[in-house]
Amino acid sequence: MSKQSDSTPAGVPPKKVTTPFQPIFSAYEGNLGGSLKVTEAGPVSFYGMTQADLKSYLKGLGKEQFRAQQIFKWVYDRRITDFDEMSNISKAFRDELKKLIDFKLPPVLSHLKSIDGTQKFLFDMGDGNSVEAVLIPSGDRLTLCISSEVGCNMACKFCFTGKQKLKRRLKASEIVGQFMQVHDRLQEGQRISNIVFMGMGEPLDNSEAVFKTVDILNDDFGIGISRRKITVSTSGLVPEMWKIAANRVRMAVSLNGSNDEVRSLVMPINKRFPLKDLLDACLRYTKETHDKVTFEYVMLKGVTDSLEQARELHQLTRKIPCKINLIPFNEHPGSGFERPEDRQIEKFQDELIRLGSHVLLRRTMGRDIFAACGQLTSEFENKPRSMDISNSKIGSVFKKSDFREGRQEPISPIK
Ligand code: SAH
Ligand code: SF4
Repeated sequence: MSKQSDSTPAGVPPKKVTTPFQPIFSAYEGNLGGSLKVTEAGPVSFYGMTQADLKSYLKGLGKEQFRAQQIFKWVYDRRITDFDEMSNISKAFRDELKKLIDFKLPPVLSHLKSIDGTQKFLFDMGDGNSVEAVLIPSGDRLTLCISSEVGCNMACKFCFTGKQKLKRRLKASEIVGQFMQVHDRLQEGQRISNIVFMGMGEPLDNSEAVFKTVDILNDDFGIGISRRKITVSTSGLVPEMWKIAANRVRMAVSLNGSNDEVRSLVMPINKRFPLKDLLDACLRYTKETHDKVTFEYVMLKGVTDSLEQARELHQLTRKIPCKINLIPFNEHPGSGFERPEDRQIEKFQDELIRLGSHVLLRRTMGRDIFAACGQLTSEFENKPRSMDISNSKIGSVFKKSDFREGRQEPISPIK
C-alpha cells in the first residue's frame, strides 16, 4: 500500500522550519512513533499542498506554474477531484497528474448530532488512530473545531485528550481533510465561517502542519477563509507562540490557573513555561497584532473556582488587552474533577465583571454526544451510541455495528 506524504513531494523543496527554539521540544520527539516516516513512494496528497507547494511541484515536472491556480479552483471551488473533468488541462497532462496526486480524505467513521445542533465527526487516520472534529452553529456563525494531533503530550489533568499520550502529529493533508469532509456535507447555503484549533492535540506542538493548513484554507483560489476567522488555541508553548502572530491568526491561551501553583498542578507545561513567560508572550502578541488574546479558563470545583482566584485572574490579565472565556468543566470518566455549581460559576463571573474584566461564560455545546471542550478522544469504545441525525444532510452515519461491518477489521481501541 502506498502512503501519502505532504511534506516531501518530489520536486518540492522541504520548507525550513525557522524556530530557534526547536531543541526545547525534543523531549516530545521520542513519542512520535514511526508513522510520520514515508517509507514508500506513492502519490502525494493534494490536500497537503499550498498553492506555492503545487507550483514548485509542477515546476519540477517542467509544467507551467499557473496550472496550480487552475487546479486549486477546480478542487476547492468547484469540488472537482477527477482530473478527467478538468477541461482546461490537456489529456496527456491529466493522465500524468492522475498517477502523481491523489485526493483521498480521512474516512468519516461516525457522525453524531446533538439536540443543540452541534455535530461531531470521527475520522479514521489509519493504523487504528482516529480524531474528532466538532461543528458548532451559533447565530450566523458556523464554527469548525479541528484536531491537530492524535492524543496530546501536554497531559493537562482535566482533559480527556491529555489522558492519551501523543500517538502522532497529523499531516496538513489530514487537518485540511477534516475540514473538507465536513465542508462537503454542509447543507445548501451553509458555509463554515470560523475555524478553531481546539480539538484534540496541542497545535503549537505540530506547528508546521497547522500553519500549512492555515495557508491552504486561506488561499483565495481555495476555500478563502480569512485568517481573522481562524483561532489557534495553545496550552502555552511559549517559544512557539510567535508563530501565531507571524501567521496573522487569532490567539487563544488556556490559562486555567490564576497562579503558578494551581496552574502547574492542572497543566504540567506550566513548570516549563511559567505564567510570567506566558503572559509576556501574550502581551507581545497584542502589541504586534493590535488584537486581543482570548484567555480560556476551565472552572474546576474547589480547584480554580474561588472568588480569591477570580481576583487573582483579574490582576494577572488586567494589563493585557484580552477577553476571558470561562469554561465550566465538562465531565469525563475517571477525571477526578467536578464542575462547580452554577451559582459559584455566576459569582466568579460577577466578581470579574465587577473588577472590570471582559469575561464571557462559554455555553456547553454537544454535551449529549460527548463533544464538549476536553471530551474528545480517539478511543472509539467511549463513544455514546445514541444519535440524532434529523435535519442532517449527511448520509454516512455509522452505528457502532455498521462501523464494524464497514471495515475489514475493527479499529483497535487506543490504550
Ligand atoms: N491544546 C490546546 C487546544 C485544545 S484544548 C489548548 O489546550 O489550548 C481546547 C480547550 O479545552 C482548552 O482551553 C482546554 O483548557 C479546554 N478543556 C480541556 N479539557 C476540558 C474539560 N474537560 N472541560 C472543559 N474544558 C476543557
Ligand atoms: Fe492537550 Fe489542550 Fe488537552 Fe492540555 S487541554 S492535554 S494541551 S489538548
